[in-house]
Amino acid sequence: MSEHPHSSHYDAIVIGGGHNGLTAAAYLAKAGRKVLVLERRHVLGGAAVSEELYPGFTFSVCSYVVSLLRPHIIRELELARHGLEIIPLEASFLPLPNGDSLTRWSDPERTRREVARFSRHDSERLPEFSLAMTKLCWLAKRIIDEPAPDPASLAPRELLKLLRLGRTMKDDPTDLRWLNFKLLTMSAVDFLDLWFESDVLKAPMSVSGIIGTFLGVRSPGTAYVLLHHYMGEIDGAFRAWGFSKGGTGGISLAIANAARAHGAEILEQSGVERVLVHGGKANGVVLENGDTVRASTVISSVDPNRTFLRLVGEEHLEDEFAAQIRRYRLRGSSGKVNLALDRLPEFSCRPGDGPHLHGDIAIAPSIDYLERAYDEAKYGDFSERPYINVVIPSLVDPTVAPPGKHVMSCFVQYAPYDIKEGPEHWPERREAFGDAVVDTLAEYIPGLRESILYRQVLTPWDLEQEFGLTEGNIFHGELSLDQLLFLRPAAGWARYRTPIEGLWVCGSGTHPGGGIMGAPGELAAKTMLQSRAL
Ligand SMILES: Cc1cc2nc3c(=O)[nH]c(=O)nc-3n(C[C@H](O)[C@H](O)[C@H](O)COP(=O)(O)OP(=O)(O)OC[C@H]3O[C@@H](n4cnc5c(N)ncnc54)[C@H](O)[C@@H]3O)c2cc1C
Repeated sequence: MSEHPHSSHYDAIVIGGGHNGLTAAAYLAKAGRKVLVLERRHVLGGAAVSEELYPGFTFSVCSYVVSLLRPHIIRELELARHGLEIIPLEASFLPLPNGDSLTRWSDPERTRREVARFSRHDSERLPEFSLAMTKLCWLAKRIIDEPAPDPASLAPRELLKLLRLGRTMKDDPTDLRWLNFKLLTMSAVDFLDLWFESDVLKAPMSVSGIIGTFLGVRSPGTAYVLLHHYMGEIDGAFRAWGFSKGGTGGISLAIANAARAHGAEILEQSGVERVLVHGGKANGVVLENGDTVRASTVISSVDPNRTFLRLVGEEHLEDEFAAQIRRYRLRGSSGKVNLALDRLPEFSCRPGDGPHLHGDIAIAPSIDYLERAYDEAKYGDFSERPYINVVIPSLVDPTVAPPGKHVMSCFVQYAPYDIKEGPEHWPERREAFGDAVVDTLAEYIPGLRESILYRQVLTPWDLEQEFGLTEGNIFHGELSLDQLLFLRPAAGWARYRTPIEGLWVCGSGTHPGGGIMGAPGELAAKTMLQSRAL
């Protein structure tokens, strides 16, 4: 074991160069702290990463659209100056098996006309729904842009915070204050039923409630996940999603550039083997190559399971805390299929290019279809006919594919980590899973198979092996009510501090959770600076 050459210079070591670790590093470096980021992979970004997997074709390998990234982080870290460029999505396209389709546009009036083809009632209720969601998002924003409230604290500041939150709901003259509570416990479908009748509209809307969860669209609790995905905003418009130019790795690289500009040091191919704990206090890390790096503060951006049970070790944890972390649910349920195509995919229901393809495309033809896809997963199988969210970023970003060629990114659910043969058997089933995805898509794009130049299939097992996402959970832990707010990742430990003195956490497994938000990294860094932890 040898000492890292610059070991004694760092105030803080950040484990993991995903976008949250980088955000924490950027804020700490901006405040004048000497920071070192250690990333295990050869490239930065974690689940927000771009890689040229096939000559000339750059993929957003995992996450593929952005919306939740907090606007004030973009401003405070000057991410536009550091290379961030977001291209707004124009539409959400739903091809249907009967040859019809539904397109929801960024222009509400155009969407209303399109929805009216299926249900006049639903088209008339759309503005009311949008208003309700906007109001809910304003409330939710108060929660996600601050450290989690602490209902167990009697400190005046905490009580005032809870009071202010309560008043926000009380002051609302509409029924929305009750909706907040309903939202927390309802299923996505029940929630949408409050406004809409048409399956064609409700099915593609309900899928926002199951992303990254091991739940179905009719499972209680999924309405909250739906709101989580609505909370994103681009230029002040809620529910606005975009592509990052060059793939989602562009976001991570812009944050890394900001961190470096403030003096942070970032090392790739520097996996951390364990956190050094002495007398209940963290004082450095040991790298996979055996080197030791010391610092008075260690900040982990990897998921809670990996941080505490593997990098720290249960021998350093109180039984009750270790039990909470062991019980924290990850249960990955998603996979990803990335395709390089030699031509534009032709949807039989609407052939050719057009703005309807310049956004996301959902394979979610009905609520029953989605629920059936979940049924297979419940019993340890991937869905033969899964929910798929497709984007073709090469249509709006020429930097990601050669002229005339395309990259097609397919987010897939369900692919349970725990398949019935056991997760370690995923490699034998990987290509069958990829085939199920391509076969499903080919029902809507008949010439797809012949146009594939290259295919990458990522199962939850692959997400764990390659990206360090325990059980392949895309959000570092399910976004269920019992794992959110002051309970994320463990009751009493939701403010980025941990029971190990000098060890902090800042990844998606902390408040306010997963997605390319940057909020956990930012809030962790600001909390540390405020409490003069370093
Ligand atoms: C397939 C998929 C699709 C998704 N789609 C979207 C989407 O479209 N939009 C969206 O907003 N969100 C999406 N998400 C979720 C989002 O990408 C994640 O929630 C977010 O990127 C996680 O960021 P993070 O920094 O908290 O953690 P991570 O990105 O997981 O970063 C942790 C980093 O730590 C590194 N690491 C792990 N172990 C070690 C170690 N021992 N030593 C050093 N480094 C280590 C990892 O390599 C990684 O770089 C998706 C995720 C996946 C997997």
